[in-house]
Amino acid sequence: MPGRLHDKAALVTGSSSGLGRAIALAYASEGAQICCVDLYPSPRNATNASTGKADSFHNRLPSSESTHAELLRLYPVSSAIFVQADVTDAKEMEQAVARCVEAFGRLDVMVNNAGISVESTHVRMLRVHETSEEDWDRTMAINAKGVFLGCKYAIAQMLRQERREGERDRGWIVNTASVQGLVAYYGTPSYCASKSAVVGLTKQIALDYGPDRIHCNALCPGFLKTTMTQNLQNDPVLRQKTDDAHPFGGMGDVEDVARAAMFLASDDARWVTGVPLPVDGGLLTL
Ligand code: NAD
Repeated sequence: MPGRLHDKAALVTGSSSGLGRAIALAYASEGAQICCVDLYPSPRNATNASTGKADSFHNRLPSSESTHAELLRLYPVSSAIFVQADVTDAKEMEQAVARCVEAFGRLDVMVNNAGISVESTHVRMLRVHETSEEDWDRTMAINAKGVFLGCKYAIAQMLRQERREGERDRGWIVNTASVQGLVAYYGTPSYCASKSAVVGLTKQIALDYGPDRIHCNALCPGFLKTTMTQNLQNDPVLRQKTDDAHPFGGMGDVEDVARAAMFLASDDARWVTGVPLPVDGGLLTL
């Protein structure tokens, strides 16, 4: 039986690591062709921002193989490409969409997932008066402007291309926000503001492009076990507090969120648009 994304072309930003990697793998397992977009082809050797020492976190990842190499190994009949691009750079994002179209003929699903949390690299949480202008600008550039640029070039392409035969929908956009796009959390002002911008932009796009049958929804994950939350995971007190905040118990796995991303890109969500979807093990019930 053909998969839910059989023959669809999907572009995933932040695909080299964490949630983006899981979404790319999930989409490919349902038959999609994947254009992987990231600053680096594979999880790179990071330096721990608080200690300045080489970070062993990536050694604990199941694989340091690049996402697109893994996709080609697992799903040889599908196809995958990697495009090196910075989501904050308009020219590079326009080029990334163009490379996807060059390789697969079209773009059906855009996943704007690349993101950072500068707060998570500091040992303690920072309130507004302690937040540097530089950290604010960097977070807004990647988390908010990066999503805007991804939407801008993806939508232009979706409006240009012919609908598939027998299909009403022109395209699907999935933006990765966070539960922090919906509620505040201690000492993370720039992150909260940037993710709220993603939720607002998602609703605006759903409204403006509804008549064109372009879906636009946002994923709002709770805390996940990825590089981004590495400092939190390494701190036993914070880790316990975070685990306890999730009624399902513990931080989430990227694969669980990728399933929701799958839903939002598929015909199962044919009457869903403009929704910020919490995927958080019940975190927001508190
Ligand atoms: P991650 O650090 O594992 O992966 C982020 C990826 O984005 C990396 O591969 C990185 O190279 C890429 N990236 C960063 N800046 C980029 C840029 N300027 N251009 C292109 N690529 C860039 O983090 P993750 O936890 O997988 O986060 C993915 C998304 O999920 C982010 O938007 C994040 O805010 C969101 N999120 C994460 C959590 C969590 O607890 N980890 C919770 C809610 C939402």
